[in-house]
Amino acid sequence: MSDGAPSFPALRGNDYRDTWCGQALPGRVGSEVRLAGWVHRRRDHGGLIFIDLRDRTGLVQLVFHPDEAGEAFQLGHKLRAEDVISVAGVVVERDPAMVNPEMATGAVEVKVGEATLISDADTPPFEVESFSGEVSEETRLRHRYLDLRREPMREAMELRHRVAQSMRSFLSGEGFLEIETPVLTRSTPEGARDFLVPSRLQRGSFYALPQSPQLFKQLLMIGGFERYFQIARCFRDEDLRADRQPDFTQLDIEMSFVDVEDVLDVNERLLAAVLGACGVEVSLPLPRLPYDVAIARYGTDKPDLRFGLEIVDLTEAFRESEFNAFRATIADGGVVRALNAGAREMSRSDLDGLVTDAQELGAKGLVWAVVEPEGWRSPVAKFLSAEEISAAAAALEGSEGDVLLLVADEPPVAAGVLGALRQRLGERYGLIKEGAQSLTWIVDWPLVGWNEGEGRWDPYNHPFTSPDGDFDPAQPGAARAKAYDVVWNGWEIGGGSIRISDPKLQSEVFKAIGMDQTEAEERFGFLLEALRYGAPPHGGIAYGLDRIVALLHGSSSIREVIAFPKTASGGDPLTGAPAPVDERQLRELGVTALGARKGDGG
Ligand code: ASP
Repeated sequence: MSDGAPSFPALRGNDYRDTWCGQALPGRVGSEVRLAGWVHRRRDHGGLIFIDLRDRTGLVQLVFHPDEAGEAFQLGHKLRAEDVISVAGVVVERDPAMVNPEMATGAVEVKVGEATLISDADTPPFEVESFSGEVSEETRLRHRYLDLRREPMREAMELRHRVAQSMRSFLSGEGFLEIETPVLTRSTPEGARDFLVPSRLQRGSFYALPQSPQLFKQLLMIGGFERYFQIARCFRDEDLRADRQPDFTQLDIEMSFVDVEDVLDVNERLLAAVLGACGVEVSLPLPRLPYDVAIARYGTDKPDLRFGLEIVDLTEAFRESEFNAFRATIADGGVVRALNAGAREMSRSDLDGLVTDAQELGAKGLVWAVVEPEGWRSPVAKFLSAEEISAAAAALEGSEGDVLLLVADEPPVAAGVLGALRQRLGERYGLIKEGAQSLTWIVDWPLVGWNEGEGRWDPYNHPFTSPDGDFDPAQPGAARAKAYDVVWNGWEIGGGSIRISDPKLQSEVFKAIGMDQTEAEERFGFLLEALRYGAPPHGGIAYGLDRIVALLHGSSSIREVIAFPKTASGGDPLTGAPAPVDERQLRELGVTALGARKGDGG
């Protein structure tokens, strides 16, 4: 099938089987079939034994009759969940009262004549057939091969396959070549820590596992490939969250002789094709939101646009306020911003709970107000003039009963706190319509942001991103970037940029972010050199494939759509990785273990 959905060809037929369980369908009534798979469920019923047999295509019911099945019947008695068997028998119609409409093969059953036990199973640590969410993730991962036998996991893997296939098929059709880049390489900065691999042959030197194939894809453009993609494994040594894994998969793309519009065009069509193949309609063109607008209205660069609840700036309304917390914050360069949460039944303690939420999110405080006919009911109402209240109420479109939430703080804090509260309220009050989707580009990013701790400019994206327009090295903070992200339902699913293809500009940008000539040559001399041999203008993007699949699957964690993920502490309970290695291995590598034994946190 062109959308990459798996299809099951007729089997060649061997001693194990000639038919898939899910294909022992009504059309086959009267035929002899041989099936193999796992015992999914077994029931004894008035002398008959029923077994649901499972293979990758689904389930079929087997019946063992005491008179007809002889030895097979004896075996049927002994079988237990997850034993692997092969059976031969005849497809028969089920008694109409026994038809199971829930099951694709529910109108038939297979009357077993012969049965062989291929491999017996120990009692599983959790039931594959009637799994309840109560099994801990640790146990599921420790026995992932059993967990993978469950339907939702099979669906996740099928979905993943379909996503990857539709990506490949769309991109091939657009002239992109799939090319692999090295896994043992030199560090590419994407803002995370590197995983390092010591070199045995060059003691004291290290490979870095790629945080992304960024530099290689740029070199491929200089190498003349013009359109490249790769479904690439990337590695970032970061603290883990539900949407992060130390090794994860990107769809990585790069194109030559393009500007922003060209990249967005191919990528919108790619997204429509991939999501469309998985049942999500995408209408094009996708909306575009400038970065600054996203921050101002939604308090985040990955806004969930499935609901409104926009943040409103009230700084001007309160600039001269008698209320000191507002006036002083504004005088210090801060802002007052607010949300209109709408008419909600909220008790005093619900409202105070929001204040605590805001403080946990990093705000100094939160002011709440309920719109009433004569003004605001709010702990601070007495400090606010009628004019201020009416200006604020107008900006917030407040009507009677509405709950207003105001934060006075430095702009990034006010944005972050209100952005997070907005998301919580959207979820809490069911503002997200069932099945609603929102995909949007975030465009027009700043090139760099000030890193207070380190006292330098850091790239927003990575240092290979092209400034938009002229670049003034004296004022890097004023530069905008030719960069774009795609956000789906509040998740950043992809991001990229047009790259710097002029070696002089690349050196200037390195310098602006605090990398002197010597360091730039040391780390990226190979790129600067390559850029001097005729570099085409180029740009691209990378998508988090795990995130896309998780969203399609309706999972809140990417671990649910990765066959063998790591836990939140970066371990694999199945293989025991990461694990200590023996002294000899370390000696060969010239590496000394600094007391980094398991469990000491070192
Ligand atoms: N290399 C970037 C990343 O991994 C994506 C890109 O710029 O294409 O985030």
